[in-house]
Amino acid sequence: MNLSGEDRHNSSAVARRDIRDLTLDELESAAAEAGERPYRGRQIAHWLWRKGAESFDVMQDLPAALRTALAERFTLAPANVAAVRRASDGTCKLLLRLADGEAIETVIIPAGDRTTLCISSQAGCAMGCEFCATARMGLHRNLTAAEIAAQVFAARRELNPGAQLTNYVFMGMGEPLANYPRLLGALTAMTAPWGMAISPRRITVSTVGIVPMMEKLLAELPVNLAVSLHATTDEARDRIAPINRRYPLAELIRACRRLPLKARSRITFEYVMLAGVNDTIDDARRLVKLLAPLRAKVNLIFFNPFAGSDLERSPRAAVEAFQAVLHRGNLTATIRESRGLDIAAACGQLYAEQHLPQDAGARDHERRAAQLGIQD
Ligand code: SF4
Repeated sequence: MNLSGEDRHNSSAVARRDIRDLTLDELESAAAEAGERPYRGRQIAHWLWRKGAESFDVMQDLPAALRTALAERFTLAPANVAAVRRASDGTCKLLLRLADGEAIETVIIPAGDRTTLCISSQAGCAMGCEFCATARMGLHRNLTAAEIAAQVFAARRELNPGAQLTNYVFMGMGEPLANYPRLLGALTAMTAPWGMAISPRRITVSTVGIVPMMEKLLAELPVNLAVSLHATTDEARDRIAPINRRYPLAELIRACRRLPLKARSRITFEYVMLAGVNDTIDDARRLVKLLAPLRAKVNLIFFNPFAGSDLERSPRAAVEAFQAVLHRGNLTATIRESRGLDIAAACGQLYAEQHLPQDAGARDHERRAAQLGIQD
């Protein structure tokens, strides 16, 4: 096949890896293969992860020949911010356009002396949770480690002067544990001394309950874990979080009991309050029983309504009554106010608003079920 000059350029761009997908060992090897001493790998890592370099040209303390060799072998594309929405409560949502045209969301959430970044791990999601706008997309693709970690730099550029990110939660688009190798690559770059050197204690990975990967993750890195629970019976959870058909509640809770938690750390259970679905006093009592064997805390979350969803948020009085039952059962339970409602800040909403027809959810249902290996 004869390729034009432009085609050749494009095909080599597709084949090249983003240099931020490399570990320190691989950076050292890349330097050695370019005829340089391996310590240059550490210098490259410093440019990538401490200085947030977005081109090889800025790496001025590297020999020009090495920069040229790196640029021929690797890409280093800046995160392309396609839209920024700032809410009246300070929440800031970024829509990032990836090199292949996919779009993902990243949300900066200031609260008191914390500024939390909500990071996406996939473009779309296959998990099909009924209360989630991202589920309407289905899974488009996994993000690379570079695309996951680059969200931190994109967010830092949007911070107000003097502000800095203090916490990182993988609660954006996608199920992080369904993209495990790339998630681990990103977490390694974020936490390693040669990377961003962020304390793993400041990082929370949220899962809807991919049981086998939960234990694996905590064995590799001492990050915090959040489990999206959202129901106290298999019947209700099967409906609103279909992964439950593969890993039912009892199996999920057994897996949580086995997790190698660090001293004083607890598993956070996320529970989105849905009127008439999971918000009764009986649900609250069942939740107390379910979590009794665990070091657990519960976040009760107001549902963010979105177009095309039939679900409704629980009234405040119901959420408070639910919380009171948890407190009486000695469970720490916090009510999470909706953030950024005026900018559609819940996961997937900005994307959905800009990209999806209203009936996309119904059309995607079968595909999601097939992706999960779940049939009704
Ligand atoms: S809540 Fe999380 S796991 Fe469920 S569909 Fe949305 S992004 Fe996926």
